[in-house]
Amino acid sequence: MLRDYNKIPYLLLTPGPLSTSPSVRSAMWYDSCTWDDDYKNIVSDIRRRLLHISDCDPSMYTTVLMQGSGTFGVESVLGSSIHKKNDCVLILVNGVYGKRMVDIVDTLELCHVVCEVDENQSFTYDQVKDVLDKAKEITHIAMVHCETTTGIINALEPIAKLAHAYQKHFIVDAMSSFGGVEIDMTGLSIDFLISSANKCIQGVPGFSFVICKKEKLTTLCKDNAKSLSLDLYGQWREMEKDAGKWRYTSPTHVVLAFHQALLELEEEGGIAARSRRYTMNQHILSNGMRALGFESYISTDLQSPIITTFLEPERIPGTLKKFLFKPFYTYLKNHGFVIYPGKVAHTNSFRIGSIGHLFPKDITNFLSHVKSFIEEPTLSIVS
Ligand SMILES: *Cc1c(COP(=O)(O)O)cnc(C)c1O
Repeated sequence: MLRDYNKIPYLLLTPGPLSTSPSVRSAMWYDSCTWDDDYKNIVSDIRRRLLHISDCDPSMYTTVLMQGSGTFGVESVLGSSIHKKNDCVLILVNGVYGKRMVDIVDTLELCHVVCEVDENQSFTYDQVKDVLDKAKEITHIAMVHCETTTGIINALEPIAKLAHAYQKHFIVDAMSSFGGVEIDMTGLSIDFLISSANKCIQGVPGFSFVICKKEKLTTLCKDNAKSLSLDLYGQWREMEKDAGKWRYTSPTHVVLAFHQALLELEEEGGIAARSRRYTMNQHILSNGMRALGFESYISTDLQSPIITTFLEPERIPGTLKKFLFKPFYTYLKNHGFVIYPGKVAHTNSFRIGSIGHLFPKDITNFLSHVKSFIEEPTLSIVS
Protein backbone atom coordinates (compact mmCIF):
# COMPACT_ATOMS: atom_id res chain seq x y z
CA MET A 1 0.00 0.00 0.00
CA LEU A 2 1.35 3.42 -0.95
CA ARG A 3 1.16 6.14 1.62
CA ASP A 4 -0.01 9.62 0.82
CA TYR A 5 3.17 11.56 1.52
CA ASN A 6 1.43 14.90 1.15
CA LYS A 7 -0.59 14.23 4.25
CA ILE A 8 1.20 14.44 7.57
CA PRO A 9 -0.53 12.06 9.96
CA TYR A 10 0.75 13.72 13.15
CA LEU A 11 3.27 16.12 14.62
CA LEU A 12 6.04 14.66 16.76
CA LEU A 13 6.11 16.18 20.22
CA THR A 14 9.22 14.11 20.87
CA PRO A 15 12.88 15.05 21.34
CA GLY A 16 14.16 13.65 18.06
CA PRO A 17 13.46 12.47 15.52
CA LEU A 18 11.21 15.48 15.51
CA SER A 19 8.86 17.18 13.09
CA THR A 20 10.79 18.79 10.24
CA SER A 21 9.76 21.42 7.71
CA PRO A 22 8.43 20.36 4.30
CA SER A 23 11.46 22.05 2.68
CA VAL A 24 13.90 20.01 4.81
CA ARG A 25 12.12 16.84 3.76
CA SER A 26 12.10 17.80 0.10
CA ALA A 27 15.84 18.51 0.19
CA MET A 28 16.21 14.71 0.25
CA TRP A 29 14.58 14.43 -3.13
CA TYR A 30 17.68 13.63 -5.18
CA ASP A 31 20.60 11.23 -5.07
CA SER A 32 24.20 12.39 -4.63
CA CYS A 33 27.58 11.02 -5.52
CA THR A 34 29.80 10.97 -2.44
CA TRP A 35 33.05 11.86 -4.20
CA ASP A 36 31.63 14.49 -6.55
CA ASP A 37 32.48 18.12 -5.75
CA ASP A 38 28.82 19.19 -5.62
CA TYR A 39 28.24 16.91 -2.67
CA LYS A 40 31.58 17.50 -0.96
CA ASN A 41 31.02 21.26 -1.17
CA ILE A 42 27.77 20.82 0.72
CA VAL A 43 29.57 18.81 3.41
CA SER A 44 32.26 21.50 3.70
CA ASP A 45 29.63 24.20 3.90
CA ILE A 46 27.90 22.31 6.72
CA ARG A 47 31.18 22.15 8.62
CA ARG A 48 31.77 25.88 8.14
CA ARG A 49 28.24 26.78 9.16
CA LEU A 50 28.40 24.69 12.33
CA LEU A 51 31.42 26.70 13.46
CA HIS A 52 29.73 29.92 12.46
CA ILE A 53 26.49 29.34 14.40
CA SER A 54 28.46 28.31 17.48
CA ASP A 55 30.65 31.41 17.23
CA CYS A 56 33.84 29.35 17.02
CA ASP A 57 37.04 30.70 15.52
CA PRO A 58 37.86 28.33 12.60
CA SER A 59 41.57 28.65 13.35
CA MET A 60 40.99 27.10 16.79
CA TYR A 61 37.94 24.90 16.35
CA THR A 62 36.95 22.30 13.80
CA THR A 63 34.03 19.92 13.16
CA VAL A 64 33.76 16.23 12.39
CA LEU A 65 30.62 14.58 11.03
CA MET A 66 30.14 10.94 12.01
CA GLN A 67 27.78 8.34 10.57
CA GLY A 68 25.19 6.88 12.94
CA SER A 69 22.90 8.28 15.61
CA GLY A 70 23.99 10.58 18.45
CA THR A 71 25.37 7.76 20.57
CA PHE A 72 27.88 6.92 17.82
CA GLY A 73 29.19 10.49 18.11
CA VAL A 74 29.51 10.24 21.90
CA GLU A 75 31.26 6.88 21.62
CA SER A 76 33.56 8.27 18.98
CA VAL A 77 34.62 11.18 21.22
CA LEU A 78 35.07 9.11 24.38
CA GLY A 79 36.82 6.29 22.55
CA SER A 80 39.12 8.59 20.61
CA SER A 81 40.04 11.18 23.25
CA ILE A 82 40.59 8.95 26.30
CA HIS A 83 43.81 6.98 26.50
CA LYS A 84 43.46 3.42 27.73
CA LYS A 85 46.39 3.56 30.16
CA ASN A 86 47.05 7.22 30.99
CA ASP A 87 43.57 8.74 31.24
CA CYS A 88 40.51 8.63 33.44
CA VAL A 89 37.17 10.34 32.84
CA LEU A 90 34.77 11.80 35.39
CA ILE A 91 31.20 11.33 34.18
CA LEU A 92 28.37 13.37 35.69
CA VAL A 93 25.11 11.41 35.75
CA ASN A 94 21.53 12.48 36.41
CA GLY A 95 19.69 10.48 33.76
CA VAL A 96 19.80 7.90 31.02
CA TYR A 97 22.23 9.72 28.73
CA GLY A 98 24.81 10.27 31.46
CA LYS A 99 24.47 6.54 32.23
CA ARG A 100 24.97 5.76 28.55
CA MET A 101 28.37 7.46 28.64
CA VAL A 102 29.23 5.20 31.58
CA ASP A 103 28.10 2.19 29.50
CA ILE A 104 30.36 3.32 26.67
CA VAL A 105 33.50 3.65 28.80
CA ASP A 106 32.62 0.36 30.56
CA THR A 107 32.43 -1.38 27.19
CA LEU A 108 35.67 0.21 26.03
CA GLU A 109 37.24 -0.64 29.40
CA LEU A 110 38.37 2.92 30.07
CA CYS A 111 39.10 4.23 33.56
CA HIS A 112 36.18 6.29 34.89
CA VAL A 113 34.75 7.90 38.00
CA VAL A 114 31.01 8.54 38.27
CA CYS A 115 29.35 11.40 40.11
CA GLU A 116 25.62 10.66 40.23
CA VAL A 117 22.75 12.72 41.62
CA ASP A 118 18.94 12.27 41.53
CA GLU A 119 17.21 12.74 38.20
CA ASN A 120 15.48 15.94 39.30
CA GLN A 121 18.71 17.45 40.69
CA SER A 122 21.75 18.92 39.00
CA PHE A 123 25.42 18.99 40.02
CA THR A 124 26.85 21.72 42.18
CA TYR A 125 30.27 23.27 41.90
CA ASP A 126 31.23 21.97 45.35
CA GLN A 127 30.11 18.41 44.66
CA VAL A 128 32.22 18.13 41.55
CA LYS A 129 35.15 19.99 43.10
CA ASP A 130 35.12 17.47 45.92
CA VAL A 131 35.41 14.58 43.47
CA LEU A 132 38.22 16.29 41.57
CA ASP A 133 40.11 16.94 44.81
CA LYS A 134 39.86 13.27 45.79
CA ALA A 135 40.36 11.48 42.48
CA LYS A 136 43.63 12.88 41.18
CA GLU A 137 43.70 10.39 38.31
CA ILE A 138 40.90 12.24 36.49
CA THR A 139 41.99 13.78 33.18
CA HIS A 140 38.63 14.36 31.43
CA ILE A 141 35.18 15.57 32.54
CA ALA A 142 32.12 14.50 30.54
CA MET A 143 28.58 15.75 31.11
CA VAL A 144 25.18 16.00 29.44
CA HIS A 145 23.86 19.53 28.91
CA CYS A 146 20.12 18.91 28.59
CA GLU A 147 19.36 15.49 30.09
CA THR A 148 16.58 14.45 27.72
CA THR A 149 15.46 11.76 30.18
CA THR A 150 13.67 14.44 32.19
CA GLY A 151 14.23 17.74 30.38
CA ILE A 152 16.50 19.07 33.14
CA ILE A 153 19.18 21.52 32.06
CA ASN A 154 22.59 21.04 33.68
CA ALA A 155 24.40 24.37 33.94
CA LEU A 156 27.69 24.22 32.06
CA GLU A 157 29.34 27.24 33.72
CA PRO A 158 30.30 25.76 37.12
CA ILE A 159 31.71 22.59 35.56
CA ALA A 160 33.51 24.55 32.83
CA LYS A 161 35.10 26.66 35.56
CA LEU A 162 36.33 23.54 37.34
CA ALA A 163 37.57 21.95 34.13
CA HIS A 164 39.56 25.10 33.50
CA ALA A 165 40.91 25.44 37.04
CA TYR A 166 41.89 21.77 37.27
CA GLN A 167 43.04 21.57 33.64
CA LYS A 168 40.75 18.72 32.60
CA HIS A 169 39.58 18.03 29.07
CA PHE A 170 35.93 19.03 28.89
CA ILE A 171 33.39 16.95 26.91
CA VAL A 172 29.74 18.01 26.57
CA ASP A 173 26.90 15.88 25.21
CA ALA A 174 24.76 18.74 23.90
CA MET A 175 22.73 16.38 21.73
CA SER A 176 19.30 17.75 22.54
CA SER A 177 20.31 21.35 23.28
CA PHE A 178 22.73 22.45 20.55
CA GLY A 179 20.86 24.74 18.17
CA GLY A 180 17.99 25.23 20.63
CA VAL A 181 19.87 26.75 23.56
CA GLU A 182 22.72 29.23 23.25
CA ILE A 183 26.07 27.69 24.25
CA ASP A 184 29.22 29.77 24.60
CA MET A 185 31.71 27.21 23.25
CA THR A 186 34.67 29.55 23.47
CA GLY A 187 33.82 31.25 26.78
CA LEU A 188 33.22 27.86 28.43
CA SER A 189 36.31 26.48 26.72
CA ILE A 190 34.50 23.28 25.69
CA ASP A 191 36.95 20.84 24.11
CA PHE A 192 34.45 18.45 22.49
CA LEU A 193 30.75 19.12 21.97
CA ILE A 194 28.54 16.42 20.47
CA SER A 195 25.15 16.76 18.82
CA SER A 196 23.21 15.07 16.04
CA ALA A 197 21.31 15.80 12.85
CA ASN A 198 17.83 15.06 14.15
CA LYS A 199 17.58 17.35 17.15
CA CYS A 200 17.49 21.16 17.39
CA ILE A 201 19.01 21.83 13.96
CA GLN A 202 15.80 20.14 12.78
CA GLY A 203 17.25 17.68 10.29
CA VAL A 204 16.49 13.98 9.97
CA PRO A 205 18.35 11.09 11.69
CA GLY A 206 21.52 9.63 10.19
CA PHE A 207 24.64 11.27 11.57
CA SER A 208 26.12 13.01 14.57
CA PHE A 209 28.58 15.87 14.62
CA VAL A 210 31.37 16.98 16.91
CA ILE A 211 32.65 20.53 17.36
CA CYS A 212 36.07 20.43 18.94
CA LYS A 213 39.31 22.25 19.56
CA LYS A 214 41.77 21.39 16.81
CA GLU A 215 44.60 21.17 19.26
CA LYS A 216 42.78 18.61 21.45
CA LEU A 217 41.71 16.59 18.43
CA THR A 218 45.21 16.35 17.06
CA THR A 219 47.00 15.73 20.36
CA LEU A 220 44.50 13.43 22.16
CA CYS A 221 42.79 11.56 19.34
CA LYS A 222 45.51 10.76 16.84
CA ASP A 223 46.05 6.98 16.74
CA ASN A 224 44.04 6.58 19.94
CA ALA A 225 40.68 5.20 18.71
CA LYS A 226 39.39 1.89 20.07
CA SER A 227 37.32 1.33 16.93
CA LEU A 228 38.09 1.72 13.25
CA SER A 229 34.77 3.19 12.14
CA LEU A 230 34.39 5.53 15.14
CA ASP A 231 37.89 6.99 14.84
CA LEU A 232 37.23 10.73 15.24
CA TYR A 233 40.69 11.78 14.16
CA GLY A 234 40.66 9.46 11.14
CA GLN A 235 37.32 10.86 9.99
CA TRP A 236 38.53 14.45 10.49
CA ARG A 237 41.73 13.84 8.55
CA GLU A 238 39.77 12.47 5.60
CA MET A 239 37.31 15.40 5.67
CA GLU A 240 40.22 17.85 5.69
CA LYS A 241 42.46 16.11 3.19
CA ASP A 242 39.77 15.45 0.62
CA ALA A 243 37.61 18.50 1.44
CA GLY A 244 34.22 17.14 2.47
CA LYS A 245 34.82 13.42 1.94
CA TRP A 246 33.68 10.97 4.63
CA ARG A 247 35.74 7.83 5.15
CA TYR A 248 32.93 5.41 4.43
CA THR A 249 29.54 5.78 2.73
CA SER A 250 27.85 8.84 4.13
CA PRO A 251 24.09 9.32 4.58
CA THR A 252 23.80 11.53 1.49
CA HIS A 253 20.09 12.36 1.72
CA VAL A 254 20.38 13.15 5.40
CA VAL A 255 23.29 15.47 4.64
CA LEU A 256 21.24 17.40 2.07
CA ALA A 257 18.36 17.73 4.54
CA PHE A 258 20.75 18.92 7.24
CA HIS A 259 22.23 21.55 4.98
CA GLN A 260 18.75 22.87 4.23
CA ALA A 261 17.95 22.78 7.96
CA LEU A 262 21.02 24.93 8.69
CA LEU A 263 19.89 27.50 6.10
CA GLU A 264 16.46 27.56 7.74
CA LEU A 265 17.99 28.02 11.18
CA GLU A 266 19.82 31.06 9.86
CA GLU A 267 16.63 32.33 8.21
CA GLU A 268 14.80 32.04 11.53
CA GLY A 269 17.40 34.36 13.09
CA GLY A 270 19.97 31.87 14.38
CA ILE A 271 20.15 29.97 17.64
CA ALA A 272 18.96 32.93 19.75
CA ALA A 273 15.71 33.20 17.78
CA ARG A 274 15.14 29.45 17.78
CA SER A 275 15.77 29.33 21.50
CA ARG A 276 13.08 32.01 21.97
CA ARG A 277 10.56 29.98 19.96
CA TYR A 278 11.29 26.79 21.90
CA THR A 279 11.07 28.68 25.17
CA MET A 280 7.71 30.10 24.15
CA ASN A 281 6.51 26.61 23.14
CA GLN A 282 7.62 25.21 26.48
CA HIS A 283 6.00 27.99 28.52
CA ILE A 284 2.67 27.60 26.74
CA LEU A 285 2.92 23.84 27.23
CA SER A 286 3.76 23.80 30.93
CA ASN A 287 1.34 26.58 31.84
CA GLY A 288 -1.42 24.96 29.82
CA MET A 289 -0.82 21.51 31.27
CA ARG A 290 -0.70 22.92 34.80
CA ALA A 291 -4.03 24.67 34.20
CA LEU A 292 -5.43 21.30 33.13
CA GLY A 293 -4.15 19.66 36.31
CA PHE A 294 -0.83 18.08 35.26
CA GLU A 295 2.28 18.57 37.37
CA SER A 296 5.83 18.93 35.96
CA TYR A 297 8.59 16.72 37.35
CA ILE A 298 11.41 19.26 37.04
CA SER A 299 11.30 22.55 38.96
CA THR A 300 10.97 25.68 36.84
CA ASP A 301 14.53 26.92 37.48
CA LEU A 302 16.05 23.69 36.09
CA GLN A 303 13.55 23.14 33.27
CA SER A 304 14.93 23.27 29.71
CA PRO A 305 12.96 24.59 26.73
CA ILE A 306 13.50 21.20 25.03
CA ILE A 307 11.24 18.63 26.65
CA THR A 308 9.01 18.51 29.73
CA THR A 309 8.26 15.55 31.98
CA PHE A 310 4.80 15.40 33.52
CA LEU A 311 3.88 13.10 36.37
CA GLU A 312 1.14 10.62 35.58
CA PRO A 313 -1.78 11.55 37.81
CA GLU A 314 -3.72 8.81 39.60
CA ARG A 315 -6.93 10.07 38.04
CA ILE A 316 -7.76 12.10 34.98
CA PRO A 317 -7.65 15.63 36.41
CA GLY A 318 -10.99 16.83 37.72
CA THR A 319 -12.62 13.41 37.34
CA LEU A 320 -12.82 10.13 39.21
CA LYS A 321 -11.57 8.20 36.19
CA LYS A 322 -8.27 6.38 36.35
CA PHE A 323 -5.51 7.93 34.20
CA LEU A 324 -3.79 5.50 31.87
CA PHE A 325 -1.01 6.48 29.48
CA LYS A 326 -2.02 4.22 26.60
CA PRO A 327 -5.52 5.62 25.94
CA PHE A 328 -4.17 9.15 26.46
CA TYR A 329 -1.40 8.50 23.93
CA THR A 330 -3.77 6.92 21.40
CA TYR A 331 -6.33 9.69 21.72
CA LEU A 332 -3.70 12.37 21.10
CA LYS A 333 -2.18 10.40 18.22
CA ASN A 334 -5.58 10.12 16.58
CA HIS A 335 -5.88 13.88 16.92
CA GLY A 336 -2.53 14.62 15.31
CA PHE A 337 0.11 14.55 18.08
CA VAL A 338 2.59 11.92 19.17
CA ILE A 339 3.97 12.27 22.70
CA TYR A 340 6.70 10.31 24.49
CA PRO A 341 6.52 7.82 27.33
CA GLY A 342 8.44 8.66 30.49
CA LYS A 343 11.96 7.48 31.32
CA VAL A 344 12.27 8.54 34.94
CA ALA A 345 13.15 5.66 37.25
CA HIS A 346 10.58 4.74 39.96
CA THR A 347 8.01 7.34 38.83
CA ASN A 348 5.26 7.02 36.24
CA SER A 349 5.53 9.95 33.88
CA PHE A 350 5.25 11.00 30.26
CA ARG A 351 7.18 13.53 28.20
CA ILE A 352 6.21 16.20 25.73
CA GLY A 353 8.80 17.85 23.49
CA SER A 354 8.73 21.49 22.42
CA ILE A 355 11.42 21.32 19.72
CA GLY A 356 11.30 20.83 15.96
CA HIS A 357 9.16 22.52 13.34
CA LEU A 358 6.59 23.36 16.04
CA PHE A 359 5.09 26.72 16.80
CA PRO A 360 3.05 28.19 19.64
CA LYS A 361 -0.16 27.62 17.68
CA ASP A 362 0.65 23.89 17.48
CA ILE A 363 1.10 23.71 21.24
CA THR A 364 -2.15 25.60 21.83
CA ASN A 365 -3.87 23.21 19.47
CA PHE A 366 -2.32 20.25 21.29
CA LEU A 367 -3.58 21.57 24.64
CA SER A 368 -7.11 21.82 23.29
CA HIS A 369 -6.96 18.08 22.52
CA VAL A 370 -5.67 17.28 26.01
CA LYS A 371 -8.64 19.23 27.32
CA SER A 372 -11.07 17.34 25.13
CA PHE A 373 -9.52 14.05 26.26
CA ILE A 374 -10.24 15.01 29.84
CA GLU A 375 -13.80 15.89 28.93
CA GLU A 376 -14.31 12.81 26.73
CA PRO A 377 -16.80 10.61 28.57
CA THR A 378 -16.57 7.39 26.55
CA LEU A 379 -12.85 6.85 26.03
CA SER A 380 -11.75 6.93 29.60
CA ILE A 381 -11.87 3.91 31.83
CA VAL A 382 -14.02 4.29 34.92
CA SER A 383 -12.30 2.85 37.96
C1 LIG B 1 19.23 11.90 21.68
C2 LIG B 1 20.30 11.95 22.67
C3 LIG B 1 21.46 11.15 22.55
C4 LIG B 1 21.69 10.20 21.42
O1 LIG B 1 20.72 9.27 21.27
P1 LIG B 1 20.63 8.45 19.91
O2 LIG B 1 19.42 7.62 20.13
O3 LIG B 1 21.86 7.67 19.74
O4 LIG B 1 20.47 9.46 18.83
C5 LIG B 1 22.47 11.32 23.48
N1 LIG B 1 22.36 12.20 24.46
C6 LIG B 1 21.27 12.98 24.63
C7 LIG B 1 21.24 13.97 25.73
C8 LIG B 1 20.20 12.87 23.74
O5 LIG B 1 19.13 13.65 23.89
